[in-house]
Amino acid sequence: MTELPVLVVGGGPAGVAAAVTLAEASLRVLLIEQRDRLGGAIHRQPAPGAPQIWRGPARHRRNWTELTSRLERVAARIELRTSSVFLGVDGAGRFLFEDCRVSQVFARRVRAAIVAVGAIERIRPFEGWELPGVMSAGGAQILLKETGRPPEGPIVVAGSGPLLLAVAAQLARAGNPPLAVLERGNPWRRPKALASLMTAGPQLAEAAAYGTVLALKRVPYRIESEVLGVTETGQGLTIRVRLGKVERLLQARHLLVHDGLEPNRIGIPLPAPEADVPVFLAGDGREIHGADAAMLDGQRAAAAVLASLGRTAPVAALETALGKARAFQRDLAEALRSPPTLPSPETMICRCEGRRYADFTALPADASAREIRLMGRFGLGACQARFCGPMLAELRGEPLSSASPPRWPLRPVSLAALANFSMDQTET
Ligand SMILES: Cc1cc2nc3c(=O)[nH]c(=O)nc-3n(C[C@H](O)[C@H](O)[C@H](O)COP(=O)(O)OP(=O)(O)OC[C@H]3O[C@@H](n4cnc5c(N)ncnc54)[C@H](O)[C@@H]3O)c2cc1C
Repeated sequence: MTELPVLVVGGGPAGVAAAVTLAEASLRVLLIEQRDRLGGAIHRQPAPGAPQIWRGPARHRRNWTELTSRLERVAARIELRTSSVFLGVDGAGRFLFEDCRVSQVFARRVRAAIVAVGAIERIRPFEGWELPGVMSAGGAQILLKETGRPPEGPIVVAGSGPLLLAVAAQLARAGNPPLAVLERGNPWRRPKALASLMTAGPQLAEAAAYGTVLALKRVPYRIESEVLGVTETGQGLTIRVRLGKVERLLQARHLLVHDGLEPNRIGIPLPAPEADVPVFLAGDGREIHGADAAMLDGQRAAAAVLASLGRTAPVAALETALGKARAFQRDLAEALRSPPTLPSPETMICRCEGRRYADFTALPADASAREIRLMGRFGLGACQARFCGPMLAELRGEPLSSASPPRWPLRPVSLAALANFSMDQTET
């Protein structure tokens, strides 16, 4: 009987590094990626026919080129299924996927699984964040990478974190520099964390490169500044902002918001290293480490799979490097830490179900995650709490999903794809 493969979900740096490490150790691998190409969030390629306007820092490109060359050398042991979405695990322990190219759900048995599905963006809610014209900065970056075209008209970029700087510089390079970048934090107030960040060579160089682009295009980068609310006018958005201690109104067509990343755990199986089919998380989907460390974390997860199969794989050097990446992320979070801001009662929290902050505060103060879902209807919509989950977690200091198992399928599946179901070949 043919040996079952190890499943790797996610074709970003972490998933590809995991798949390559396993295949180099002579294991069969099933690599599933929902998009039509590998690359993940950072190496997202332009759509066919669109220009490549931003190539990204050289070290990321070099790392990816090396990884994909290794992938080619072991390709015979890797069954690569792109345009295929991981949907969940059925009652019999089979992993389920949809092959979107042929609209077919298929099931596979595997001997172990690594789930490396990356991060989701966090947004601190404010009145009007759900309006057309407001989008996440990461979403705008994806559009830019895929179409090679920046959004038209005046843009404001706001929130917190290094992605603001990257996206603003990329917009500027693409020909539409933002009106302003508003960073809520103030790293000068946290000199210890700032001093620590100054020792991070590659990341510092990357930030300096983005800063130079913004300076050349005269894009103001304001710290201790944030969006207070947005309204829509016939001409676009009126954005009420706080710049230091002063309130102002800005007119723009687009507002790009972002308040950091967090592991994408929506509907993802929990890590279960001791289970019959051990499950491991890797990359940003396990812990936000950044692109450099995601590849190392993929290798670490592959080493854990090998160990679960009785094989030895060295991890000490990987753990040391991951420790450094973790320390960098901790210093970054500390340098940009800002006091929490409570939304106004009218602020939308769950846009799927139209639930506002006033609906949340009307619930009992000690409401459990289940009560918040069932009585408040938060997190019950089609997005499965992708946006309101992190918002509520921050407001209540505990994850909303902690009490509920994942709802599968992870994404809506058409009846045609279900009717076209294909059973695992090993069971027929
Ligand atoms: C929006 C965004 C923008 C970023 N921009 C930058 C930047 O400018 N510079 C920088 O240095 N870092 C950036 N990062 C961080 C960087 O991309 C990550 O650190 C790195 O890509 C993490 O690698 P990963 O393999 O863990 O996850 P990812 O690269 O996110 O890869 C995860 C993969 O899993 C796939 N996937 C997800 N769900 C499923 C599913 N159900 N079924 C099948 N496949 C699935 C996704 O399509 C994706 O290809 C960004 C991250 C995000 C989320």
